[in-house]
Amino acid sequence: MLSPLLQVDPEVFDAISSEVRRQQTTLELIASENFVSLAVLEALGSVMTNKYAEGYPGARYYGGCEWVDVAERLAIARAKEVFGAEHANVQPHSGTQANMAVYFAMLEPGDTILSMKLDMGGHLSHGYKKNFSGRAYPAVFYGVNRETEQIEFDEVRALAKEHRPKIIVCGASAYSRIIHFSRFAEIAREVGAYLMADIAHVAGLVAAKLHPDPVPHCDVVTATTHKTMRGPRGGIILARQEFAKKVDSQVFPGMQGGPLMHVIAAKAIALKEAMAPDFLTYQEQIMKNARALALGMENRGYRLVTGGTDNHMVLVDLSGSGLTGRRATELLESVDITVNKNLIPFDQKPPSEASGIRIGSPALTSRRMREPEMDLICDLIHKTLTADKDQAVHAKVKIQVRDLCEAYPLYQRSYHM
Ligand SMILES: *Cc1c(COP(=O)(O)O)cnc(C)c1O
Repeated sequence: MLSPLLQVDPEVFDAISSEVRRQQTTLELIASENFVSLAVLEALGSVMTNKYAEGYPGARYYGGCEWVDVAERLAIARAKEVFGAEHANVQPHSGTQANMAVYFAMLEPGDTILSMKLDMGGHLSHGYKKNFSGRAYPAVFYGVNRETEQIEFDEVRALAKEHRPKIIVCGASAYSRIIHFSRFAEIAREVGAYLMADIAHVAGLVAAKLHPDPVPHCDVVTATTHKTMRGPRGGIILARQEFAKKVDSQVFPGMQGGPLMHVIAAKAIALKEAMAPDFLTYQEQIMKNARALALGMENRGYRLVTGGTDNHMVLVDLSGSGLTGRRATELLESVDITVNKNLIPFDQKPPSEASGIRIGSPALTSRRMREPEMDLICDLIHKTLTADKDQAVHAKVKIQVRDLCEAYPLYQRSYHM
């Protein structure tokens, strides 16, 4: 049978087929990306996308919600179980939306946020001036220590005492070390601030108990389901029971309309997958692979921000190599290796150029690659970055990339495109 999509819209069909091929034939090292299971993919393409379900299970504004209620109740129960949380909201359309709902629930416009500086590893939704968060709330930022390139709790404490934030936000997008939630909690208590952890990146490691647990220390925890969690694109909020009502009412009707029920069904599946024993093995391998990437780059003469990694990502400082992050990203893209340019702490370059790249292991670990492949990939990266414009070297690297992708297939038989 001809695909309905191909019949209706050959252009979009072609874009999707080409994207499948791109994912199959490139080495994905973007630390925030992953490959979902076929079960998750199936739910995302399901008829639950048709359903309006404003409200919450058992209390909807529309009829016919009995089956979407089943899916959402499963997602909520599993989120609570996986993270040991008192309350979970699985409706946020993205991580940014999860953060927005928390701010709406806990702050008034004009209240101060204390969070990590964007160019030291933080996120746009933590008070960046061009983001809604920075427009609605004055933000004060902590950075990292110039020597260790790690969070400096003396600085966090001093800023908290000086600015008396209503909320302290911990969690990062580009930080390769453990986030010590208990130390943030001490400071939050000292100044009477709420504490929010945004574990968008490390949620999978937290679920597998390979990273310290934020839940006991925080009033609220936000996460994405699509990074190390390996689920559909979306957000979740975990909260203490006392904040449950406020959080729920700020997600809906506060800032969203109808929830994406097909995505919520897929979140339930990803959370079930996170309870299976092989999820722990997977998360352990993510960390082993990240350490192998760190070692592999270090052995080839690259300086790593903070000198290494405790999680799934490595930040590589290219300032010694004469390449900008942007140039390196372009060179690597030309040999089918996908990374992103990234500012390093105290970067002298603008964000559009940047002095570093961020590389992460979750996606390739989902393809079942292990430490030897990580070392080979470091070799390919190094060859690409040092070959300058030597087309022969790039062509050779590209063949090795293709061989590696073929040896670790993705969405092989079961995906019809
Ligand atoms: C990725 C990320 C988010 C959310 O991202 P969305 O793209 O909105 O889903 C939020 N916070 C941090 C720290 C992140 O890394």
